[in-house]
Amino acid sequence: MQERPLRTTVIGSYPFPGWLEFAVSHLDEFGLADRAELQEDAVIAAVHDQVAAGLDVISDGEQTRLDFNLSFYGFLEGIHLESAPPRRFGPPAHDQRGKHQVTGELRAPRGLGVVEEFQRLQRLAPRTADGKSPTLKASVPGPYTMSGRLLPNEQYVDRWALTEALLPIVRTELEALVTAGCTEITVDEPSMSCYAHREDPARFVDIWNRTVQPIVGKCRLSTHLCFGNFKARAVGLRHYAPMFPAFLDFDLDEIHVEMASREFAEIGIIRDIAERRDVAVGIIDVKSYYIETPQDVAERVRLCLRHAPAEKLSFAPDCGLSQTARWAAKQKLNNMVVGVQIVRDELGV
Ligand SMILES: [Zn+2]
Repeated sequence: MQERPLRTTVIGSYPFPGWLEFAVSHLDEFGLADRAELQEDAVIAAVHDQVAAGLDVISDGEQTRLDFNLSFYGFLEGIHLESAPPRRFGPPAHDQRGKHQVTGELRAPRGLGVVEEFQRLQRLAPRTADGKSPTLKASVPGPYTMSGRLLPNEQYVDRWALTEALLPIVRTELEALVTAGCTEITVDEPSMSCYAHREDPARFVDIWNRTVQPIVGKCRLSTHLCFGNFKARAVGLRHYAPMFPAFLDFDLDEIHVEMASREFAEIGIIRDIAERRDVAVGIIDVKSYYIETPQDVAERVRLCLRHAPAEKLSFAPDCGLSQTARWAAKQKLNNMVVGVQIVRDELGV
């Protein structure tokens, strides 16, 4: 059970400040200490925007996943990092990201870096005396999603084999996060939601449950089921029907679904989720530059309340905000919190 009804939360990522993007393309001109400083400064900026919005749950905005060396793939041994995408020009889409060659046994002796990210967030996030400090959330990609950017080879013959190799690596990172004091973890498996229509959803449930098994009941555990947002473009069939009821067997506390950009199609699914789990509803469209007003948000919250009770509901953007300009991301988060508060006041919760 979540700690307050109608909680406001986020999906992990937040836009990089312009200066950070500039710095990333000139990283070789920075010294190690300079890089550490710019990573901290970027997290401070992301934390500031989320705290200023008044969110109940915040993340580090994934600000330190700057480049390949600091991404999860940079922590993996047994791969050859391939940063050149197969298509470099033309309209933005997911094929403008490269896939990595697997050259040996997949291992991550240093972990995936999420524990260090969480500890940095702990150090930089504000603690308020009134006990209302925001909850700090960490996001980890699930093994099936991570496997999508690795090319199968003789040792790992297909995506399922790659997933099985990554599964214990992700599981170890999750356990380490809980040990480090992390109380809220999202395991992102957008590839499962994107491909549920063409794969066996029960197979996804089995992968999920084996991945998270050691941390179930030891933290607030959630997943984010979206249809893709790289370069603000979707990639999956944007229907939840193929995933349910199978995905209700995921061992977790909360399922996040993308509703705003889909005009709340299949809203009834949140009733089914709320019968078994908490449900986080995406009520902010991260792909659109229309800024939802607080009244828009309040209306969307009331719509959700027709399908699920307040104590089961939380609200978030549809996806991480990394592909949305920061000026818009800020306004959208601010208005989301104000809009949810309108309904809290109406209900007296
Ligand atoms: Zn997403």
